[in-house]
Amino acid sequence: MNYYNENTVLWLDGQFLKASEAKTDLYGQSLHYGYSVFEGIRSYGTSAGTTKIFKAVEHFDRLQRSAAALNMPYNYTTAEMIKATYEVLERNNLQDAYIRPVVYGPANMSFNPNTESFTVIETWEMAPFLGEKLLKVMTSSFQRPNPKGFKIEAKAAGHYVNSIMASHEAKGNGFDEALLTDMNGFIAEGPGANMFFEKEGKLFTPATGNILPGITRATVLELSAELEIPVEQGQYTPEQLKKADTAFFCGTAAEVIGWSSIDNYTFPLPWKESQSRRIQLAYKDKVTERQPQPQLETI
Ligand code: PMP
Repeated sequence: MNYYNENTVLWLDGQFLKASEAKTDLYGQSLHYGYSVFEGIRSYGTSAGTTKIFKAVEHFDRLQRSAAALNMPYNYTTAEMIKATYEVLERNNLQDAYIRPVVYGPANMSFNPNTESFTVIETWEMAPFLGEKLLKVMTSSFQRPNPKGFKIEAKAAGHYVNSIMASHEAKGNGFDEALLTDMNGFIAEGPGANMFFEKEGKLFTPATGNILPGITRATVLELSAELEIPVEQGQYTPEQLKKADTAFFCGTAAEVIGWSSIDNYTFPLPWKESQSRRIQLAYKDKVTERQPQPQLETI
């Protein structure tokens, strides 16, 4: 995967630089200790032909909250970040893009707080993170971090070592992706996405507290209300999941992607007949600002 080429432009603290020429400090605290915060955002070409960053305010507000949670100086307003991002997209001639802002620290090997931070905005083209085919998911032997050990609601780089380990384990065992439980053994989320399962036309999703409260998860809750699909949030066991009709991951990078199985349990409901599929179609319409399509094709 090529994230940039010699023409790619990024934004670094107010300056537009060539990605191939921009520099960072190899003595940086973020590289050594995983101490940085970031966002994963998508923009879409809309049905009207414009470029729209989906839920831009929500993402940059979360970036600011993540920085605050880690005691990092944060130097820009959400409006400034959104303006800079649209300009990066334009300079790279991108409409359907993945957008990655990162706030990181200076060279500092001590554990003393920093008085400065750096902010970069990078963009690239990226297909759905988990592909477009139904996924074979494995219950991970890794649990999500204890919320008393981390600011679990912050999107902090260091937390992703847990995600990477879980994903490696699942793929090493012939699965497409992992499902992690929380410290109490209840189902929590994927390495980079939240999850829902469906039973008898109703959706269920792990409650907040042990998960990253995703912006796509919030969008799925909104769409469920619009489509009059009932949803319950709570604590669910892997055994309950193995009695479900179907399930899906949702996240900015992954969008909405269904599962074919969890461990050795195959979900019995054909994806196309599920309420989850209606959510998947409605999500596509929402991000591209298309009038909702009649969902007859699901039959
Ligand atoms: N959980 C984790 C651990 C994630 O990394 C992500 C991706 N940011 C999500 C959930 C989904 O969050 P969002 O919908 O805001 O992208």
